Amino acid sequence: MGDFYERFVDVEVDAGEAGPLAERMVEWLVSEGVLTRERSAEGMYSSQVRTGYVPGPRWHEAVSDPSDPGWLPGPVAVLVGRDYHVGGQGADEPDAVVCPGCGKRTVIVDYPESFEPDEEAWRRFREAIAVWKETGEGVLACSTCGVPVRLTDWQFASGFDLGALAFDFWGWPPLSVAFREEFRRRLGHRMEEQMGKL
Ligand SMILES: [Zn+2]
Repeated sequence: MGDFYERFVDVEVDAGEAGPLAERMVEWLVSEGVLTRERSAEGMYSSQVRTGYVPGPRWHEAVSDPSDPGWLPGPVAVLVGRDYHVGGQGADEPDAVVCPGCGKRTVIVDYPESFEPDEEAWRRFREAIAVWKETGEGVLACSTCGVPVRLTDWQFASGFDLGALAFDFWGWPPLSVAFREEFRRRLGHRMEEQMGKL
């Protein structure tokens, strides 16, 4: 329990398909008894939505160790729409970004020397992400090799993902390998996983 989440981010779905896909995923989770249709805001802190789906009678079938009888997981928030998602605790930028063309790694936050982003390095990405959120388009040329790279193809390091659909499981015990595999299979897309804490 507590103010932490496990998050799945679909990093391939486009914005138009995200809503219908979210609905199919919820339908599946409700039919399995993992969630209900009831909504609650209690114990969840996703910034994009106020309420999530309350766990169902068989929520424990989704977790790897259901042995704590006092554990009551919180709601699952479904986040539809292009956005960037950051795991961890309180960070708003990735540690680094790697060009998929030349492999050049650009440090954004130089831990442990600094806990603030290198604004000069990050600004181009921040601006491109804002355009991508707005329009779905975004290409940023690598400042080392010059190759134009689609924003969604840049490799953002550790817990920073762009996607149009994400699921926040608030206060759940660790989700099982089998559940995560089935979730991924049903999304039908590449999925990134994050952990985070308020
Ligand atoms: Zn490059």
